[in-house]
Amino acid sequence: MNEEKKERPKKIIKCLNKGCQTKLRVPETEEKIKLRCPSCQFTFEYEGKYHYLYTLEGKSFLAFLTNTYTLQSRFDEAIEISQKKTEISPDDEYAFYGLGLSHYGKLYQHYQELNKTYSKAVEALKKAIEINPKNPSPHLTLSIIYTSNNHPQEAIETLQRFLKVKGRDKLEDTEVYKILASSYQLLGNNKEAKKFYQKALTQEPSSLQVHYSLGKLYLEEKKYQKAIEEFEKEIEVTLSNPKILKFELKHIPSFLGSILNLKEALKKRGLKEEQIKKNEILKKAYEAVNLSDSEIEKELKSLESIFPFR
Ligand SMILES: [Zn+2]
Repeated sequence: MNEEKKERPKKIIKCLNKGCQTKLRVPETEEKIKLRCPSCQFTFEYEGKYHYLYTLEGKSFLAFLTNTYTLQSRFDEAIEISQKKTEISPDDEYAFYGLGLSHYGKLYQHYQELNKTYSKAVEALKKAIEINPKNPSPHLTLSIIYTSNNHPQEAIETLQRFLKVKGRDKLEDTEVYKILASSYQLLGNNKEAKKFYQKALTQEPSSLQVHYSLGKLYLEEKKYQKAIEEFEKEIEVTLSNPKILKFELKHIPSFLGSILNLKEALKKRGLKEEQIKKNEILKKAYEAVNLSDSEIEKELKSLESIFPFR
């Protein structure tokens, strides 16, 4: 052993073949090289950069590294090491356990940061409301943040409180009613949801989002005729104004959603395929978008993922 060390510094690793584990000497290199074990003929790649992963007992050392990096919140390094270990030992469950753990650490950190951002936004908006409770804007933004983070109850409390403020600015009441309605809908309180959708409609009779949301609510309640009327209204209003159509197609899910939902409601009402095809409004809508159902569905998914209303 002493004689060998004098000759040339070489590193020792174990053959990656689990049943073999013969000690192999590898050259001092950072590069990726191909090795063949002389005793079992198993061939594998060795990377000098990750030498320790080939030498030490993988499980405990990986666990140690993952823990250390995780404790120091160095998740990218933990992920790199665990990832490498899974490549070196593709049949070692601890390698994949470590990889999962380090990715989980990163995810957890990400959520903690999101939480911090969320709290800061809420705090600032609450302060704005405290300074001037008559201004609807911070109330609206705060309630949208609440609903999109799955806290509809807080959104409802915020807006109900605003509606009671004396001398408040009523210019955005329609928006207030819409968000209240969708928050109640999120909570499963369809009765209150409908009440506020109707209130919004009395102020803005051709509100597209409201017709769409109401249609979906009626569809859910199996009131198909009412649902059909709402979806038809949404489509008709949109088609009557090319500018609205252009905007909706890019930013709001209600037009595309109404097409698919109208079709669904007609089917549920018992109409046959040929009868559905004869629906004039549906026909015009398909002509306007010139997309297949599956293309509409795809577009709709991406629009709905960013749109705060139901
Ligand atoms: Zn071997």
